[in-house]
Amino acid sequence: TQPILSAFYDRARIHGSKPLFERPGLTPIGFETAADNVRRIAAVLAERGVTPGDRVMVQVDKSPEAVMLYLACLHVGAVFLPLNTAYTGAEVDYFLGDAEPRLVVSTPDREGEMRGRLPGGTRLETLGANAGGTLMDAARDAAPHETPAPRGEGDPAAILYTSGTTGRSKGAVLTHGNLGSNAAALNDVWRFTEEDRLIHALPIFHTHGLFVACNMALTTGATMIFLTRFDEGGVIDLMSDATVLMGVPTFYSRLVKSPRLDRAATAGMRLFVSGSAPLLRDVREAFAERTGHAILERYGMTETCMIASNPYEGERRVGAVGFSLPDVEIRITDRETGEALPEGETGAIEVKGPNVFDGYWRMPEKTAEEFRADGFFITGDLGRIDEDGYLHIVGRDKDLVITGGYNVYPKEIETVIDALPGVAESAVFGVPHPDFGEGVTAVVVPRSGQDVDVAALRSALSGAIAKYKQPKEVMIVDELPRNVMGKVQKAELRKDYADLYG
Ligand code: ATP
Ligand code: MG
Repeated sequence: TQPILSAFYDRARIHGSKPLFERPGLTPIGFETAADNVRRIAAVLAERGVTPGDRVMVQVDKSPEAVMLYLACLHVGAVFLPLNTAYTGAEVDYFLGDAEPRLVVSTPDREGEMRGRLPGGTRLETLGANAGGTLMDAARDAAPHETPAPRGEGDPAAILYTSGTTGRSKGAVLTHGNLGSNAAALNDVWRFTEEDRLIHALPIFHTHGLFVACNMALTTGATMIFLTRFDEGGVIDLMSDATVLMGVPTFYSRLVKSPRLDRAATAGMRLFVSGSAPLLRDVREAFAERTGHAILERYGMTETCMIASNPYEGERRVGAVGFSLPDVEIRITDRETGEALPEGETGAIEVKGPNVFDGYWRMPEKTAEEFRADGFFITGDLGRIDEDGYLHIVGRDKDLVITGGYNVYPKEIETVIDALPGVAESAVFGVPHPDFGEGVTAVVVPRSGQDVDVAALRSALSGAIAKYKQPKEVMIVDELPRNVMGKVQKAELRKDYADLYG
């Protein structure tokens, strides 16, 4: 498969001044202009001593120039390493120490703070809003760097840190082959073409916004309507002139709350994609009722890019993430023995294919632990494949509750609770219990303006699920703890309620 950078340069030649980036109220940036900037930034990187294999750590706000910087890293053969802008202080120190970047790019307002943290020999540039900062100043004066460093499919293109939902973030080393093959597979299964106009409202320090959304546009010649934040009203306004939206489930929860979401507003759209966390059934149903569109749910992770997707044509099954992408193999195994399980049984999701990363950065033991001898990667998620071949994610291995020797899959209990009157959403988790090892515990968020009666909820559960699965405690809370990607942080809940049972 063609690497991202060369596919992008081809597109720039074909599409010329066609907009790659459009931003409300700002001048669009065309493909050729973007490509020229990429070559200029590449010249600056080379001049600053960045050579193939060097890490370039980037902690900046979302902007077209940040995407160009990513491509410039690919051009000089460097390893692009974006960081969540929310990370501060000791977190940044950890990433600096772990990645040992040659060059760091920060926002202008953090320049002083960042300079104080840098180890000797690491260079610093800044990149701010509207192409401000030292990097673009230097790029404007630079002569474009013409010839990209030769890189093979197996060479590292990026290190992306995982979201840190289950513990400390791990650096996943992704190769040129990983990125190129995954973009090609997604373009194929989602019928993505140069005709598309993608509403891009995701962050670009994460696989979803960068390697799904941007890479698809860069390699097909589609236009991105590039938004620095998600605002449901603004996104609804843009839909009349767009074709695709890629979002996390919270985008859709917020869209269905807007009275302006309807068939007319979404009439020109051809595809709504959701991923990064489970999509709530209620939200999916409300969205379909209001717009006539079935949200397409897909599954992936930092380490593997995208793994599975509901079909573009054919049934998009509620609660399922669909079929494996072209060339990707999925199997379900016993979480303890690693033996393949018969169809329909729940176990560990393992995956193999050109999408699977090279390993965790400087963690050879951790990497070895997560791969089987035959090359399958153990995702850490649990799931099953139904009789029609659709993959269902049941939850994370680390969130499995073992109570009195029985396995309890939180999602099963959450699905029952979420269907009860007055419930918006819930989270089920295990905390230490003196008699059972772990006690099944639930926190429940009521729908706005409604009350949830805990006694009624308990009696509804006792009629619906086995006794050992029923929560020993149910707490009503205002909201679930989520990280920036909208993922429920069960580790936080386990910590908060650690002493619940004494
Ligand atoms: P960490 O690995 O640091 O604990 P993380 O796993 O949340 O964090 P990511 O790589 O951003 O980091 O997220 C991948 C995970 O997101 C998957 O392993 C899976 O648990 C979850 N996920 C992604 N898409 C879906 C989906 N459609 N439905 C349910 N879960 C999903
Ligand atoms: Mg993970």
